[in-house]
Amino acid sequence: MDINNVYNKLVENIQGIKILKNEPMKKHTSFRIGGPVDLMILPKTKEEVQGAINICKKYQVNYYIIGNGSNLLVRDGGVRGVVIKLADNFNEVNIEKNRVTAQAGVLLSSLSNRLVKESFKGFEFASGIPGTLGGAVVMNAGAYGGEMKDVLAGAYVVDEKGNFIYLNKEELALDYRTSVIQKKGYVVVEAEMVFEKGDMTEIKEKIKDFTKKRTTKQPLQLPSAGSTFKRPTGYFAGKLIEDAGLKGVRVGGAQVSPLHSGFVVNVENATAEDVIHLIELVQKVVKDQFGVTLETEVKIIGQD
Ligand SMILES: Cc1cc2nc3c(=O)[nH]c(=O)nc-3n(C[C@H](O)[C@H](O)[C@H](O)COP(=O)(O)OP(=O)(O)OC[C@H]3O[C@@H](n4cnc5c(N)ncnc54)[C@H](O)[C@@H]3O)c2cc1C
Repeated sequence: MDINNVYNKLVENIQGIKILKNEPMKKHTSFRIGGPVDLMILPKTKEEVQGAINICKKYQVNYYIIGNGSNLLVRDGGVRGVVIKLADNFNEVNIEKNRVTAQAGVLLSSLSNRLVKESFKGFEFASGIPGTLGGAVVMNAGAYGGEMKDVLAGAYVVDEKGNFIYLNKEELALDYRTSVIQKKGYVVVEAEMVFEKGDMTEIKEKIKDFTKKRTTKQPLQLPSAGSTFKRPTGYFAGKLIEDAGLKGVRVGGAQVSPLHSGFVVNVENATAEDVIHLIELVQKVVKDQFGVTLETEVKIIGQD
């Protein structure tokens, strides 16, 4: 179906739905890279998320879910079809005793601030990860010895038939930077977490310590999508890349960060093509020198 007709169907069927046309994806990714998407939907409720998905399915239009775009590289030709962006509007948090339920679009930093106020411990690791809760569930995001698996009780998702279902922690099958959500193409709309109370001063100190580590060891002043590669078993991607002599290597506007070789950064109006060429170069040199295959952690979408 023609994309303008899809737009009309969305507007007719979902009252008040917010949709942007021909929206540059570079405005919605931490890499600041990416061509335009035909339609970007910004839902506020889980029913809007479900409604948008079901219309895309019914009219066979490609759709892709994003959170805060902090683990995403969008190709320069952009995305044909629909992107449903959950960050920004879809961010309610509910706290009942030690159980916290939050919409998928809440930023981890905001959620962390909220949890500190309640003196809940165990979420300090996530305070500096620049993604949404939904993205963190999907990726089983983690840092400094903690991961989402440690705090999640379960999640409400839209399944392949377009229905809401609840998956408990075991059913989520959380593993290193992956979950059942990625494998099955589900969409997380809400997550449920359980916390214990801790000492507020200790919690704040831990967050301060992690923030200091991040600001000194990661190139946070430049656009990136965090660690470009997954950690290969038995190695560290950054160390392999550095040992291969690739620290600071550039392709166009993309560079292997001189501060942290595990990060590809956008130093000067990099295109997705620059980043992809650099990724391929790194993968080839590391494979040739050490026999190790580097798999991308960053998700690459869209067309050239
Ligand atoms: C400076 C920097 C530092 C980082 N540090 C860390 C770190 O310490 N640890 C870490 O794990 N990651 C880190 N990251 C990577 C990134 O922040 C995480 O992977 C984060 O969990 C991604 O969340 P997001 O909302 O931005 O997801 P996006 O980048 O928008 O999407 C990532 C993937 O998840 C899918 N997705 C997103 N939301 C949903 C949803 N609700 N339902 C279904 N699928 C969804 C998307 O389709 C995509 O495949 C860092 C990134 C940057 C830029």
